[in-house]
Amino acid sequence: MRIGLYPGTFDPVTLGHLDIIRRATVLVDRLVIGVAINRGKGPLFDLEERVAMIEAECSQIARESGCEILVHPFENLLIDCARDVGASVILRGLRAVADFEYEFQMVGMNRRLDDTIETVFLMAEAEHQAIASKLVKEIAQLGGSVEKFVTPAVREGLRAKLGTRC
Ligand code: ADP
Repeated sequence: MRIGLYPGTFDPVTLGHLDIIRRATVLVDRLVIGVAINRGKGPLFDLEERVAMIEAECSQIARESGCEILVHPFENLLIDCARDVGASVILRGLRAVADFEYEFQMVGMNRRLDDTIETVFLMAEAEHQAIASKLVKEIAQLGGSVEKFVTPAVREGLRAKLGTRC
């Protein structure tokens, strides 16, 4: 059984993340979505909220794809999390050139820690490529519509959290 780990902060989960998740289900039998606690990033949504949002969005993808999807919060080293969940691949999304430098370093370092775990990069469909949680939060904070970037449930979550009409 092939197990993949897709790690991130998911603050909140966007249509870009869901696009990558859909593509990842084709590659593995079990997809573990690793939700980083990431206190350092000062997330808008707490861990439980981020996990609940992803779980709600992924149930349909799991049904449609036949791939088992689990959501797993983690606070330790990524490579240790991958070992904990039995993953042989780490899946990451690549947006623009800007992501490349950081991801390139991460792969290099992670390989030195454990070269049996491979990292695979996926690209979202063109209309989802520019979406970033950080910008979604900024737009929502200022009352702009985030309809094209997140699902209706996540949009509701942003409205409730920020008290804007986003
Ligand atoms: P992190 O803190 O690890 O960057 P994110 O939640 O921002 O966490 O992103 C998780 C993963 O999803 C990363 O690999 C990121 O590059 C990818 N990702 C986020 N948004 C998109 C998108 N619009 N298209 C493709 N990949 C994306």
